[in-house]
Amino acid sequence: MNPSNQSAHREWGSFRPKAVLFDMDGVLFDSMPGHAVCWEQTFQKYGLHANAYDAFLHEGRTGEGIINQFAVTDWGREATKEEVAEIYAYKSQLFNQLPESKKMAGAQELLELVKQCGMKILVVTGSGQASLLSRLETNYPGIFKPEWIVSSKDCERGKPFPDPYLLGLERGGISASEAIVVENAPLGVEAAVKAGIFTVGVNTGPLPEQLLAQAGASVVLPSMSALAELWRTTYL
Ligand code: CA
Repeated sequence: MNPSNQSAHREWGSFRPKAVLFDMDGVLFDSMPGHAVCWEQTFQKYGLHANAYDAFLHEGRTGEGIINQFAVTDWGREATKEEVAEIYAYKSQLFNQLPESKKMAGAQELLELVKQCGMKILVVTGSGQASLLSRLETNYPGIFKPEWIVSSKDCERGKPFPDPYLLGLERGGISASEAIVVENAPLGVEAAVKAGIFTVGVNTGPLPEQLLAQAGASVVLPSMSALAELWRTTYL
């Protein structure tokens, strides 16, 4: 086991983190059902054989990453930059027609506990949706700093590559062993664990729980509320 894996796999509560890196969709916002439905409609329009469940399976990839995942299988090649732009614009337009997604139950409580502990709070998301990024401040006023938000626009390679989480560590001025990641998607967990970070999986979607553990999550919980409760008893 290399040093980075050792810091990713430890006992819950065996260290006190200096920072917590939160994924956004499916963690801070209950936005994944909406994203999945929009991806399904987009896949159908462009002749890609994938559905809403596949969107959950590939959650965490950038728009380009998701499109190419299925383009390679169905078209025998990756999508061109122009195709990616058109397809992602179509999906974004569908998503923006939906009612705004709600805050994830328990997220506000957990963020306040983390803040109370004096730990840094960062967001590391594969999303590039301007509407959601700006909504962070509206929904969770005073919690986030713009310089501590990493979006798909900041990294060439999205999750499951470790790059977005490594950039988050760099921006926060912290090492992997000083952080905890909160993720809901298997590929997001994979990215965080590859970056050497202790990762909590919160299973807020339809996938089986063991996918998060198999991806490397050291702890798997059913909800953000459950994590908030555990946080309170561990760190306060
Ligand atoms: Ca997510």
